[in-house]
Amino acid sequence: MKVAVFSTKAYDRQFLAAANSDHQHELVFLEPRLNRDTAILAAGFPAVCVFVHDQVDASTLQILAANNTRLVALRCAGFNNVDLKAAAQLGITIVRVPAYSPYGVAEHAVGLILSLNRKIHRAHNRVREGNFSIDGLLGFNLNGRTVGIVGTGKIGLILGHIMKGFGCNLLAYDVYQNPELEMIGGKYVELPELFANADIISLHCPLIAETHHLINEEAIAQMKSGMMLINTSRGGLIDTQAVIEGLKSGKIGYLGVDVYEQESELFFEDLSGEIIQDDIFQRLTTFPNVLITGHQAFFTAEALSNIAETTFANITDFDNGRPCGNEIRHQPQTEAKVLVN
Ligand code: NAD
Repeated sequence: MKVAVFSTKAYDRQFLAAANSDHQHELVFLEPRLNRDTAILAAGFPAVCVFVHDQVDASTLQILAANNTRLVALRCAGFNNVDLKAAAQLGITIVRVPAYSPYGVAEHAVGLILSLNRKIHRAHNRVREGNFSIDGLLGFNLNGRTVGIVGTGKIGLILGHIMKGFGCNLLAYDVYQNPELEMIGGKYVELPELFANADIISLHCPLIAETHHLINEEAIAQMKSGMMLINTSRGGLIDTQAVIEGLKSGKIGYLGVDVYEQESELFFEDLSGEIIQDDIFQRLTTFPNVLITGHQAFFTAEALSNIAETTFANITDFDNGRPCGNEIRHQPQTEAKVLVN
């Protein structure tokens, strides 16, 4: 099948080309993101393949449909960037990769925790400059501390296992309780109790209407002074302005984020020669106790292999007329509730 692969970087090409050797689809790699202006590039391709920041909205889908595209294969789990209703009306099938790197994301969250606690990012810079002073690098033992996990699905549960290994106590909040988390000693509590007692809070729930700005001024007011906040889930879980106020007051002692609400304007591109216009993001980068990575928590070799293999299995199912378990269909209640999965 001819597939126009949008938003490709060198690493995507490497893993996609390797996984395609078992499928032999005809791939054309395109650097631009898919949107209404670039959709014409897919003319003549029955399938397109996209990532998290491609805009698969109604007008883009109309152009794709008019040029005989019948399949959009997402190389990611979230489908907030797809107008499922328009796709259904236009007869375009949407498939995705529901899970690809829960260990990688949980391990990255731990990386942020360790770096922030022991100030490894600052120590690295000091030593490079010949400054071997350890003033200001004081950390704390993780052993005996309380970690609050919001969202105990695949990633949150793995984080629980890892932090238990450090000797931490686990508090958790989820709309569905996961017995495995309780089996390793985790205790489910309501959010106010988690906020009040956790030394470290790590977010692993999806971004939906109910969780949008879950961490806001009111939530921060309930937290322990000097606590650590980690977000590897989705930027919109956090009201960034409220978090900046929390950092300024010292209520938030450490912030580690891999995601940012307005990240689509920034992440995955080299903007080192540009003037960044986002003043809120720029303010975040000025704090010594803030560590930001650019949506790389998923970015492991294992994840890229899984993404590529599942993507081509999905495309091959479609090509052969087989039902695909990873198809996403339009559901009116999903449309209303899901902002970002
Ligand atoms: P998952 O579906 O296995 O787990 C999500 C959990 O959140 C579920 O247990 C669900 O019940 C819970 N949840 C739903 N609504 C909730 C609410 N209102 N309050 C609290 N919990 C709620 O998902 P996962 O694979 O563990 O992924 C978690 C999140 O990680 C995803 O939603 C995605 O946004 C993010 N993610 C980030 C990266 C990255 O590279 N940074 C990569 C993959 C996934």
